[in-house]
Amino acid sequence: MTASAGRIDLVADIGEVLVSEEQIAAKVTELGARIGADYGDRRLTLVSVLKGSLPFMADLMRAIPSPVRIDLMEVSSYGGTSTESSGLVRILKDLSATIEGEDVLIVEDIIDTGLTLNYLIRYLRGKNPKSLRICTLLDKPARRLVDIPVDYVGFTIPDQFVVGYGLDYGEYYRNLRFVGVLRPEVYTGLD
Ligand code: 5GP
Repeated sequence: MTASAGRIDLVADIGEVLVSEEQIAAKVTELGARIGADYGDRRLTLVSVLKGSLPFMADLMRAIPSPVRIDLMEVSSYGGTSTESSGLVRILKDLSATIEGEDVLIVEDIIDTGLTLNYLIRYLRGKNPKSLRICTLLDKPARRLVDIPVDYVGFTIPDQFVVGYGLDYGEYYRNLRFVGVLRPEVYTGLD
């Protein structure tokens, strides 16, 4: 059963605001400045993964003062549930331009087990970029199954299922301006 099967209340379904709109905005500015300081006037390709990273990508790209171009991929993990990733990844949309010889920064919404990103890193490395770094808004290290060196982390969060600012449950809640914890009763027993 997905969230779309029941009534969705964008206010009442959230148990706790974990990262506020203001905290996100301040962090995006800070990360953009750090990335700009590291890359300077070098050309940088931001690669983001639909759909969860969309708001973060849109905000972060405007906070980076370096010359950036963007590309989007869409992957779906399969074999898991709506709250658990499986690590089995299928590419639904590939890059639209070559990244060979380019400085590439992966822009992610959240790293949980790391399985999805691990797959993506190996896939992108195979395209011979000059460099490949990772930026994530949220990091849930408690559940990490593969060791991934993350270069830029927005917020380290506890092991809770979060929604908002791009992150969904059953495709909804992405339009919340903050990151919040879904009340367990919204999904408990419904997977
Ligand atoms: P991983 O492969 O690192 O376990 O999971 C990566 C993907 O799982 C994320 O890109 C995201 O789509 C989803 N995911 C992991 N944790 C959460 C969470 O707390 N909330 C939501 N909405 N999605 C999550």
